[in-house]
Amino acid sequence: MGYESRTQAIYQITDREPIPVGPPTRLEDLWAADVFSLSKMKQCLPKAVFKSLKKTIEAGEQLDVSIADTVASAMKDWAISKGASYYAHVFYPMTNATAEKHDGFISTQSDGSAITEFAGKLLVQGEPDGSSFPNGGIRSTFEARGYTAWDVTSPAYLMETDNGVTLCIPTVFVSWTGEALDKKTPLLRSIGAMNRAATRVLKLLGDDDVAPVNSSCGAEQEYFLVDALFANSRPDLLLAGRTLFGKPPAKGQQFDDHYFGAIPERVQVFMQDVEKKMYRLGIPAKTRHNEVAPGQFEIAPFFEAANVASDHQQLTMTLLRQTAKKHGFVCLLHEKPFAGINGSGKHVNWSVGNSTQGNLLDPGDSPHENAQFLIFCAAVIRGVHKYGPLMRAVIANASNDHRLGANEAPPAIMSVYLGSQLEELFNQIATGELSDQYSHSGKLEFEIDTLPPLAKDAGDRNRTSPFAFTGNRFEFRAVGSSQSVSGPLIALNTMLADSLTVVGDLLEGELSKGTELNQAILTVIQEIMQKHGAVIFGGDGYSEEWHKIAVEERGLANLPTSADALPVLTEKYIEELFAKTGVLSAKELESRYEVYAEQYILSIEVEAKLVVDIAKTGIYPAAMRHLADIATTVGGLEEMGISLDKDNIKTVAELTNSMTSKVSKLSSALTKEDFASTEEHMKYFATTIRPMMDAVREDVDALEAEVADDLWPLPTYQEMLFIK
Ligand code: ADP
Ligand code: MG
Repeated sequence: MGYESRTQAIYQITDREPIPVGPPTRLEDLWAADVFSLSKMKQCLPKAVFKSLKKTIEAGEQLDVSIADTVASAMKDWAISKGASYYAHVFYPMTNATAEKHDGFISTQSDGSAITEFAGKLLVQGEPDGSSFPNGGIRSTFEARGYTAWDVTSPAYLMETDNGVTLCIPTVFVSWTGEALDKKTPLLRSIGAMNRAATRVLKLLGDDDVAPVNSSCGAEQEYFLVDALFANSRPDLLLAGRTLFGKPPAKGQQFDDHYFGAIPERVQVFMQDVEKKMYRLGIPAKTRHNEVAPGQFEIAPFFEAANVASDHQQLTMTLLRQTAKKHGFVCLLHEKPFAGINGSGKHVNWSVGNSTQGNLLDPGDSPHENAQFLIFCAAVIRGVHKYGPLMRAVIANASNDHRLGANEAPPAIMSVYLGSQLEELFNQIATGELSDQYSHSGKLEFEIDTLPPLAKDAGDRNRTSPFAFTGNRFEFRAVGSSQSVSGPLIALNTMLADSLTVVGDLLEGELSKGTELNQAILTVIQEIMQKHGAVIFGGDGYSEEWHKIAVEERGLANLPTSADALPVLTEKYIEELFAKTGVLSAKELESRYEVYAEQYILSIEVEAKLVVDIAKTGIYPAAMRHLADIATTVGGLEEMGISLDKDNIKTVAELTNSMTSKVSKLSSALTKEDFASTEEHMKYFATTIRPMMDAVREDVDALEAEVADDLWPLPTYQEMLFIK
């Protein structure tokens, strides 16, 4: 690029006008206009078919083939009336991506004419050529193909481009032998497992009428916007999603003047465009604001059932990227696009509940609700204590490593933040010494007492906990901005299913001894707290002290990199957890490990190759031109008897030499091929390759501070972060 084109980009960007998205539209007109919702199905399906479909949806089962033709035909007519000519089975492979297989409704007839057709079997089952999706070896040992099938709990919708409309059908993706090849299948299974265990506990608590228990999710998405003119001329942003080089700007985020400040107009217009599209797709966008770093923003929807929320989250990422392009931006979903500047996370707000008992993680205002809340909360605490390493593993990837275990964002040690009031209550239950605040006779008696209202803790704002209770839900803050929320939701639902099974056994044991219900509840919570209370932590999660205490005194795992965290998936107790809950078979779990490990290695490899490329073909020539320019001038002046300070020449020459030698070392380090295991391979990239990349960066960033700005080939941090 160079200065001239960088300056031109600046002129062009300054001249950019916000791209209007049409007059404001009323929410009623937009809302779910492009979704084949239950109410639309009710309108266009025969009564009996609709009833049967609704049952299927509520039970989360596969579509009944006997009604599939009718449903498919109604869906097709609706889509065609809105301009669709193609349909796509949308699925979620083991990457964080969304995949689609498109097919036309067209069918040619023997007389040469063409009609539109969409048979039930095409709705129920599709056959993408899945052989190129990562499968961790599952398919090679079974069948070459997998198939997709409509997940009836997630409605079909329309996606529009300037040139046409496509009917999109959310599907599961499985091998012919039934193994999950995607993220949706285990998510649905985990909801089922959690439902079974939760229902049993609710019945033990005396509830006869128990509707299916589902988990909810509201995901807060952080992202950066960079003008496309800058982003597209940075090969690192283009291919790796983050800057591999870049000197920190003189002004970073230290003024705190961006957070909740006024949103720049061009950005606001972009956000409004995204929100309009989200509304049409029935995604309840709710909050938008600037984030801590310059150029960083957040969007959060109102929470929904986990399965739908997960599909909607994938769509939101797609919409953010696509719409940014229209507005001349590139939307960066990477966890750490700019070194030294705050990274991006995706807070996964999660709870469980149903239509009869409501939100089970809400303290509520009746004694019965409080008892229920404490039991479910205790089950979550046990889950995090026992399966914290799993929670770390499901958010492990090369990009999230820049947040977790680094010096920012939630730490890589999983702990639970409850807020001081709730923490105190649980501790008192653990020791059996309840203060007057919670009891009248030294005993918590749910029949007569209610908990004092649990205020949302002010300390909650310190944000150093990876997993915090926030009033009526838990917020999993360590999830990365580019990640699918399915993995975290699967882990949370599955570990809760396991904990609730244990809670159910304990309760049953107490009750069968004739213990009165309230006492049984307290005894169970006490037992859980004594075994698992060590995972509760209300202090500063970033502090060195905590890192020491957590590991040495509390026995919690600190897994700083993905190379440390991913092997957790191969441990026996994790295999058992997934097997006994029926969420993933040993083979499915193993394949996941292989896929994630491979992705980890590949993403660092791509970055390392980019470091070598950019350093050799961009930075080195710039430094040499700079030296040539200056050397000529200095030489000329010396001939005239004028001597100059040569510090800059020396520094640039030294840095260039040092960079060059580090680059060639990195290059040869990348040729190593003999690894004893996947684990060793990952470790090599985490502990050898990454530090070598950082070492090159050190020289390059130092050069940026010395080399003439008009020769510098990459748009700078200052330009990318501050010019909108
Ligand atoms: P904050 O910044 O304080 O965390 P936000 O309003 O940005 O709050 O985001 C909170 C998120 O939590 C929203 O997506 C909201 O819908 C979600 N949420 C609220 N209640 C629940 C719940 N019971 N289950 C899941 N998510 C919830
Ligand atoms: Mg939040």
